Amino acid sequence: MRAQVRIIAHCCLDSPAPRPDDIAMTQPGTLHIDTVIFGGGAAGLWLLDELTRRNRPALLLEAHDLGSGQTVASQGIIHGGLKYTLSGMLTGSAQSIRDMPLLWRRALAGEITPNLSKTRLRAEFCHLWRTKTISSKLAMIGARAGLRIAPKKLDTEERPPALATCPGTVARLDEQVVDPASFIADLASQHARRLLQIDVRHGLEFVTDRDHTVQTIRLINPETGEPLDVLPRTVVFLAGSGNASLREAVGLQSSAMQRRPLHMVLARGELPTLNGHCVDGSSTRLTITTARDFADRTIWQIGGQIAERGTELDTPELIQHAKAELADVLPGVDFNGVEWATYRVDRAEAAAGGRRPEHVSLMQEGNVITGWPTKLALVPALVEAVVTVLPECQEAPSISPDHPLADRRWPRPVVAAPPWENAQWFPGN
Ligand SMILES: Cc1cc2nc3c(=O)[nH]c(=O)nc-3n(C[C@H](O)[C@H](O)[C@H](O)COP(=O)(O)OP(=O)(O)OC[C@H]3O[C@@H](n4cnc5c(N)ncnc54)[C@H](O)[C@@H]3O)c2cc1C
Repeated sequence: MRAQVRIIAHCCLDSPAPRPDDIAMTQPGTLHIDTVIFGGGAAGLWLLDELTRRNRPALLLEAHDLGSGQTVASQGIIHGGLKYTLSGMLTGSAQSIRDMPLLWRRALAGEITPNLSKTRLRAEFCHLWRTKTISSKLAMIGARAGLRIAPKKLDTEERPPALATCPGTVARLDEQVVDPASFIADLASQHARRLLQIDVRHGLEFVTDRDHTVQTIRLINPETGEPLDVLPRTVVFLAGSGNASLREAVGLQSSAMQRRPLHMVLARGELPTLNGHCVDGSSTRLTITTARDFADRTIWQIGGQIAERGTELDTPELIQHAKAELADVLPGVDFNGVEWATYRVDRAEAAAGGRRPEHVSLMQEGNVITGWPTKLALVPALVEAVVTVLPECQEAPSISPDHPLADRRWPRPVVAAPPWENAQWFPGN
């Protein structure tokens, strides 16, 4: 069976050709390889790093820019599960995520692999605050629910300026916030030669047999037009929302995936640094993270309930709503002169009836594995699960360094720009 993926690809960069010292060449234009990964977001790049360290020959194919889709658009909070215990219960989601912050912390410090010591941190910790009532419940939830990280209530003088005049409880939560684009750049730079840009519309074809085993991935070099047949032992789809089309292309059901849309708010201007959640009952009314744009201006990325409800609003309506919400929950912050924008993005996950899956999701069909991490924080858990189901790696035959592929110019994917760089901005009042 042959099927062709039909998705629009864009943007290629000219860069040095890959030196596939770990890719087995049997004849010109044909590669035998252990694992081919589709998708260079957080999940694909982390898996590539893991496989490379295990001496498993792997290649990552990216259709657009690295991290486009969700990772670069995300808020980068390495959750420890607190927001899933606001009802006071240790939910399945909280249980599966509670070990992640320590693992990330050690990787970010360069103590374990992947070495993420070049990834920029937006913050070492988050804040939690309530809008009105003073409640000690907030500080108790995490401890009672058995989380590794519980919030610590702050005295008035310990509060960040943005929360100085908030009437309710303010707590500190030791969840780090990473800069997702720099995290993608950090991993990509460590594996540049194993990343290929592909043209999924005109330069990708799968040859599969009846039990969904991919025999050949037929690629066309987007720059030279030369064909390359890749013969993988295993194919791993970690392409976020792109997984649906990839699955269809190899004869698998695309209905295994769900999209949950968000309409996020951006604010730009003279704003204080703030990273954290405004908690209202058992939900996060607002989640705010602070970044810098390419011109070194302060950007607030605003999600949480506002971005869920925002899917029903157009941009002007959502900006109006955001201004009212922010004035209510952050009475001490001056929004005069601040500019506003919004962006829409879908969360791509395994189908779970429209609800957030409680853990990472993995499917294995033929020699095809499909995965969704559900959260950025859970990417290490997904990668561990993938590695567990991979077949044993046989030794790859060696290749001669002067093989034609070593000289071939193949475009490499670049890191996606954060959403605020291409947003349409509206002046404030
Ligand atoms: C607004 C927002 C905020 C979030 N905030 C957080 C947070 O604070 N903390 C947290 O833990 N999680 C957060 N998440 C969830 C988190 O971002 C995702 O779970 C995670 O980034 C998914 O990573 P991924 O690699 O699976 O997918 P993606 O990041 O979507 O990457 C998929 C990659 O595959 C590529 N691709 C697509 N189609 C193809 C194809 N056919 N062939 C090859 N490549 C293809 C894409 O270009 C992209 O590079 C947030 C999500 C959103 C949307």
